Amino acid sequence: MAQPHILILGAPGAGKGTQSANIAEEFDVEHVTTGDALRSNKEMDISDMDTEYDTPAEYMDQGELVPDEVVNAIVDEALSQADGYVLDGYPRNLEQAEELSEMTDLDVVLYLDVDEEELVHRLTGRRMDPETGEIYHVEYNPPEDPEIEGRLEQREDDTEETVKERLRVYRENTEPVVEHYEEEGVLERVDGNQAPDEVWADVKATIEDAA
Ligand code: AMP
Repeated sequence: MAQPHILILGAPGAGKGTQSANIAEEFDVEHVTTGDALRSNKEMDISDMDTEYDTPAEYMDQGELVPDEVVNAIVDEALSQADGYVLDGYPRNLEQAEELSEMTDLDVVLYLDVDEEELVHRLTGRRMDPETGEIYHVEYNPPEDPEIEGRLEQREDDTEETVKERLRVYRENTEPVVEHYEEEGVLERVDGNQAPDEVWADVKATIEDAA
Protein backbone atom coordinates (compact mmCIF):
# COMPACT_ATOMS: atom_id res chain seq x y z
CA MET A 1 0.00 0.00 0.00
CA ALA A 2 1.61 3.30 -1.04
CA GLN A 3 1.21 6.13 1.45
CA PRO A 4 -1.67 4.70 3.50
CA HIS A 5 -4.32 6.75 5.32
CA ILE A 6 -4.44 5.34 8.84
CA LEU A 7 -6.72 6.33 11.72
CA ILE A 8 -5.76 5.31 15.25
CA LEU A 9 -8.47 5.37 17.93
CA GLY A 10 -8.24 4.68 21.65
CA ALA A 11 -8.83 6.27 25.04
CA PRO A 12 -6.36 8.78 26.51
CA GLY A 13 -3.37 6.71 27.65
CA ALA A 14 -4.06 3.83 25.25
CA GLY A 15 -0.68 4.35 23.55
CA LYS A 16 -1.81 6.15 20.39
CA GLY A 17 1.18 8.53 20.45
CA THR A 18 3.74 5.74 20.87
CA GLN A 19 2.22 3.53 18.19
CA SER A 20 1.67 6.44 15.82
CA ALA A 21 5.39 7.30 16.03
CA ASN A 22 6.21 3.69 15.10
CA ILE A 23 3.71 3.76 12.23
CA ALA A 24 5.03 7.07 10.89
CA GLU A 25 8.57 5.68 10.78
CA GLU A 26 7.77 2.22 9.42
CA PHE A 27 5.25 3.26 6.75
CA ASP A 28 6.77 6.65 5.93
CA VAL A 29 3.64 8.65 6.69
CA GLU A 30 2.98 11.90 8.52
CA HIS A 31 1.92 11.76 12.19
CA VAL A 32 -1.03 14.15 12.44
CA THR A 33 -1.99 14.64 16.07
CA THR A 34 -4.52 17.18 17.28
CA GLY A 35 -3.29 16.98 20.90
CA ASP A 36 0.25 18.11 19.97
CA ALA A 37 -1.04 20.68 17.48
CA LEU A 38 -3.29 22.18 20.15
CA ARG A 39 -0.56 22.07 22.83
CA SER A 40 1.70 24.10 20.49
CA ASN A 41 -1.11 26.61 19.99
CA LYS A 42 -2.58 26.59 23.49
CA GLU A 43 -2.75 30.36 23.82
CA MET A 44 -4.15 30.96 20.32
CA ASP A 45 -6.92 33.58 20.38
CA ILE A 46 -10.15 31.81 19.37
CA SER A 47 -12.49 34.45 20.78
CA ASP A 48 -13.74 35.40 17.29
CA MET A 49 -15.09 31.85 16.84
CA ASP A 50 -17.99 32.34 19.22
CA THR A 51 -16.59 29.82 21.70
CA GLU A 52 -17.15 29.65 25.45
CA TYR A 53 -13.46 30.31 26.28
CA ASP A 54 -10.88 32.44 24.49
CA THR A 55 -8.01 29.91 24.19
CA PRO A 56 -7.64 26.12 23.68
CA ALA A 57 -5.72 25.99 26.99
CA GLU A 58 -8.84 26.72 29.00
CA TYR A 59 -10.58 23.62 27.59
CA MET A 60 -7.52 21.38 27.66
CA ASP A 61 -6.48 22.07 31.25
CA GLN A 62 -9.95 20.98 32.39
CA GLY A 63 -9.97 17.86 30.21
CA GLU A 64 -12.77 19.22 28.00
CA LEU A 65 -12.87 19.02 24.21
CA VAL A 66 -11.71 22.06 22.26
CA PRO A 67 -14.59 23.25 19.99
CA ASP A 68 -15.00 21.33 16.72
CA GLU A 69 -14.58 24.42 14.60
CA VAL A 70 -11.03 24.93 15.87
CA VAL A 71 -9.99 21.28 15.61
CA ASN A 72 -11.60 20.61 12.23
CA ALA A 73 -9.62 23.46 10.70
CA ILE A 74 -6.33 22.08 12.11
CA VAL A 75 -7.01 18.59 10.73
CA ASP A 76 -8.22 19.79 7.34
CA GLU A 77 -5.07 21.84 6.88
CA ALA A 78 -2.73 19.03 8.04
CA LEU A 79 -4.35 16.32 5.91
CA SER A 80 -4.34 18.47 2.81
CA GLN A 81 -0.56 18.66 3.11
CA ALA A 82 0.08 14.94 3.73
CA ASP A 83 0.09 12.11 1.16
CA GLY A 84 -0.03 9.36 3.74
CA TYR A 85 -0.76 9.90 7.41
CA VAL A 86 -1.56 8.37 10.75
CA LEU A 87 -4.26 10.48 12.38
CA ASP A 88 -4.19 10.45 16.19
CA GLY A 89 -6.57 12.26 18.58
CA TYR A 90 -9.31 12.94 16.02
CA PRO A 91 -12.24 12.34 15.58
CA ARG A 92 -13.26 12.71 19.24
CA ASN A 93 -17.02 12.89 18.60
CA LEU A 94 -19.53 11.88 15.91
CA GLU A 95 -19.64 15.39 14.41
CA GLN A 96 -15.87 15.27 13.86
CA ALA A 97 -16.19 11.77 12.35
CA GLU A 98 -18.73 13.14 9.89
CA GLU A 99 -16.42 16.03 9.06
CA LEU A 100 -13.50 13.65 8.54
CA SER A 101 -15.48 11.50 6.11
CA GLU A 102 -15.87 14.59 3.94
CA MET A 103 -12.16 15.43 4.08
CA THR A 104 -10.55 12.10 3.22
CA ASP A 105 -10.79 8.31 2.72
CA LEU A 106 -9.37 5.89 5.27
CA ASP A 107 -7.47 2.67 4.50
CA VAL A 108 -7.17 1.34 8.05
CA VAL A 109 -9.03 2.16 11.29
CA LEU A 110 -7.16 0.82 14.32
CA TYR A 111 -8.56 0.73 17.84
CA LEU A 112 -6.21 0.26 20.79
CA ASP A 113 -8.34 -1.45 23.41
CA VAL A 114 -7.09 -0.88 27.00
CA ASP A 115 -8.75 -1.53 30.38
CA GLU A 116 -9.82 1.58 32.29
CA GLU A 117 -7.74 0.84 35.41
CA GLU A 118 -4.62 0.51 33.27
CA LEU A 119 -5.41 3.82 31.50
CA VAL A 120 -5.56 5.72 34.80
CA HIS A 121 -2.31 4.13 35.97
CA ARG A 122 -0.52 4.97 32.72
CA LEU A 123 -1.71 8.58 32.57
CA THR A 124 -1.15 9.59 36.18
CA GLY A 125 2.38 8.06 36.13
CA ARG A 126 3.35 9.62 32.79
CA ARG A 127 6.18 12.20 32.84
CA MET A 128 7.97 14.15 30.14
CA ASP A 129 11.54 15.37 29.84
CA PRO A 130 11.04 19.05 28.86
CA GLU A 131 14.49 19.13 27.21
CA THR A 132 14.04 16.20 24.82
CA GLY A 133 10.29 15.61 24.73
CA GLU A 134 10.96 11.98 25.72
CA ILE A 135 8.09 10.29 27.59
CA TYR A 136 8.73 8.25 30.76
CA HIS A 137 6.59 6.51 33.37
CA VAL A 138 7.42 6.67 37.08
CA GLU A 139 6.99 2.92 37.40
CA TYR A 140 7.04 1.28 33.94
CA ASN A 141 9.82 3.29 32.38
CA PRO A 142 11.74 5.57 34.80
CA PRO A 143 14.89 7.30 33.46
CA GLU A 144 18.20 5.80 34.63
CA ASP A 145 19.92 9.18 34.76
CA PRO A 146 19.06 11.03 38.03
CA GLU A 147 19.58 14.36 36.26
CA ILE A 148 16.79 13.53 33.82
CA GLU A 149 14.64 12.19 36.64
CA GLY A 150 15.05 15.51 38.47
CA ARG A 151 13.74 17.60 35.61
CA LEU A 152 10.75 15.46 34.56
CA GLU A 153 7.42 17.23 34.31
CA GLN A 154 3.84 16.04 34.43
CA ARG A 155 1.48 17.16 31.67
CA GLU A 156 -1.01 19.61 33.16
CA ASP A 157 -3.92 17.37 32.19
CA ASP A 158 -2.37 14.16 33.58
CA THR A 159 -3.35 14.90 37.19
CA GLU A 160 -5.77 12.40 38.72
CA GLU A 161 -8.75 14.77 38.69
CA THR A 162 -8.30 15.82 35.06
CA VAL A 163 -7.58 12.25 33.95
CA LYS A 164 -10.95 11.18 35.37
CA GLU A 165 -12.67 13.98 33.47
CA ARG A 166 -10.83 13.11 30.23
CA LEU A 167 -11.96 9.50 30.53
CA ARG A 168 -15.54 10.60 31.20
CA VAL A 169 -15.43 12.85 28.12
CA TYR A 170 -13.96 9.93 26.16
CA ARG A 171 -16.76 7.56 27.19
CA GLU A 172 -19.45 10.09 26.43
CA ASN A 173 -18.15 11.51 23.14
CA THR A 174 -15.56 9.19 21.62
CA GLU A 175 -16.85 5.70 22.38
CA PRO A 176 -19.74 6.35 19.96
CA VAL A 177 -17.07 7.06 17.31
CA VAL A 178 -15.52 3.65 17.93
CA GLU A 179 -18.98 2.08 17.67
CA HIS A 180 -19.61 3.98 14.44
CA TYR A 181 -16.57 2.47 12.73
CA GLU A 182 -17.40 -0.93 14.21
CA GLU A 183 -20.88 -0.75 12.69
CA GLU A 184 -19.32 0.18 9.36
CA GLY A 185 -17.30 -3.05 9.67
CA VAL A 186 -13.91 -1.33 9.30
CA LEU A 187 -12.67 -1.34 12.91
CA GLU A 188 -9.46 -3.31 13.54
CA ARG A 189 -9.23 -4.02 17.28
CA VAL A 190 -5.77 -4.45 18.85
CA ASP A 191 -5.18 -5.51 22.46
CA GLY A 192 -3.49 -2.39 23.85
CA ASN A 193 -2.99 -3.84 27.35
CA GLN A 194 0.14 -5.61 26.16
CA ALA A 195 3.71 -4.25 26.38
CA PRO A 196 4.48 -1.56 23.74
CA ASP A 197 6.55 -3.93 21.55
CA GLU A 198 3.79 -6.54 21.51
CA VAL A 199 1.18 -3.92 20.66
CA TRP A 200 3.46 -2.71 17.87
CA ALA A 201 3.79 -6.22 16.39
CA ASP A 202 -0.02 -6.48 16.23
CA VAL A 203 -0.45 -2.95 14.86
CA LYS A 204 2.15 -3.52 12.13
CA ALA A 205 0.63 -6.85 11.09
CA THR A 206 -2.86 -5.33 10.99
CA ILE A 207 -1.74 -2.51 8.69
CA GLU A 208 0.18 -4.91 6.44
CA ASP A 209 -2.85 -7.20 6.19
CA ALA A 210 -5.04 -4.28 5.18
CA ALA A 211 -2.67 -3.47 2.28
P1 AMP B 1 -4.50 14.33 23.67
O1 AMP B 1 -3.07 14.71 23.66
O2 AMP B 1 -4.93 13.67 22.38
O3 AMP B 1 -4.90 13.54 24.89
O4 AMP B 1 -5.34 15.70 23.71
C1 AMP B 1 -5.20 16.60 24.80
C2 AMP B 1 -6.38 17.56 24.84
O5 AMP B 1 -6.44 18.30 23.60
C3 AMP B 1 -7.74 16.92 24.95
O6 AMP B 1 -8.06 16.61 26.29
C4 AMP B 1 -8.64 18.03 24.38
O7 AMP B 1 -8.80 19.07 25.28
C5 AMP B 1 -7.79 18.53 23.23
N1 AMP B 1 -8.07 17.78 21.98
C6 AMP B 1 -7.23 16.95 21.31
N2 AMP B 1 -7.81 16.44 20.21
C7 AMP B 1 -9.07 16.96 20.18
C8 AMP B 1 -10.18 16.81 19.32
N3 AMP B 1 -10.14 16.01 18.24
N4 AMP B 1 -11.32 17.50 19.61
C9 AMP B 1 -11.40 18.32 20.67
N5 AMP B 1 -10.39 18.48 21.54
C10 AMP B 1 -9.23 17.83 21.31
